[in-house]
Amino acid sequence: MYHNQGQTDEILNRFRFRDRDIADTIVNRLSASDLDLVFMHVCGTHQDTLVRYGIDTLLQGCSVEIRQGPGCPVCVTTPMEIVEGIRLAREGITVASFGDMVRVPSPDGSLLDARSDGHDVRIVYSVADAVRAAKVSGRDVVFMAVGFETTAPGTAIEILNGPPENFSILNCHRYVPPAVYALLRMGEIRLDGLIEPGHVSTVIGVRPYEPITRAFDLPQVVAGFEPLDLLMAVYMLVKQVERGEARVENEYVRSVRYEGNLKALGLLDRVFRPEDREWRGFGMIPNSGMALRKEFKAYDARERYDHLLEGLEAESDDEARGCRCGEVLRGVMYPRECPLFARACRPDNPIGPCMVSAEGSCNIEFTHRNIRLS
Ligand code: SF4
Repeated sequence: MYHNQGQTDEILNRFRFRDRDIADTIVNRLSASDLDLVFMHVCGTHQDTLVRYGIDTLLQGCSVEIRQGPGCPVCVTTPMEIVEGIRLAREGITVASFGDMVRVPSPDGSLLDARSDGHDVRIVYSVADAVRAAKVSGRDVVFMAVGFETTAPGTAIEILNGPPENFSILNCHRYVPPAVYALLRMGEIRLDGLIEPGHVSTVIGVRPYEPITRAFDLPQVVAGFEPLDLLMAVYMLVKQVERGEARVENEYVRSVRYEGNLKALGLLDRVFRPEDREWRGFGMIPNSGMALRKEFKAYDARERYDHLLEGLEAESDDEARGCRCGEVLRGVMYPRECPLFARACRPDNPIGPCMVSAEGSCNIEFTHRNIRLS
């Protein structure tokens, strides 16, 4: 197989950020610290790196524990939002969403169940696919718009491009920083520092984390996704704690600028405004949802089909099913501590979203730790 220069650079970079000797050097330095520290990251991809490459195992002798917070957009989507999608599909509307999303159980089944019942639920890879489906089919198509600041600019572009009239979005986009605030305000677990998500930060930059550090006197490091990125972020946090500092540092300088991606931020600002939104496991988080601005309300599926969604109620049934995703998402419980993990709940029979999504802690734990079924 031949690679072009860009691909070759990427492969070399990957090796550079997976160098075992450098990893051991960082771990040795970390093990010299006798502080007992708990850090949290807010990103499914960080959790994947942490488990897939055994970083958490490497850190076992270092008195540093890393927990996962609410960093999986599919996992934090509420049962009510899924039930809305299912209702629309049952009413004859084409509902398009990502592969993970359609499998998440709700009090009314999953979108995939609705498809098995003969309703038109389509798996797409992007909002552009959903717009194309609307153009080609001529049917009413609703895109279940899930994701943080990373994916929302894609939705914003399609809305600004003026999609066909038969297209609208079931808007489930969310901002990350308000959830970090909410988590810290809850104060359920002691945290000594935060590892912030690289891809979200390529859009929002470093600045939005600064008020969090000021409010909670907490060190933060924006980190990339290679094993050494994560180890380096841990090292930077430990150093801050040792020096008695609380700052926001950027480990991912090769991709994240202080001010973020101004073009993407501009797109978000033109199309969305903050509104309060529920998150699974958290309840209502002020200003955490991206609402369509009023000039784009024509593309808001909740406005367009309010007569179909009227009276819809969906309380979370996680508890009834014994699912502890809420606690997993708040970082107060590890997947293995859930009594259903790898027993009743597995990727081929997920009980909760954290086992469905490739960014969910339970799925990552099951997939990469060679779990024996029982
Ligand atoms: S193991 Fe399954 S049931 Fe338990 S928290 Fe994870 S997704 Fe929910």
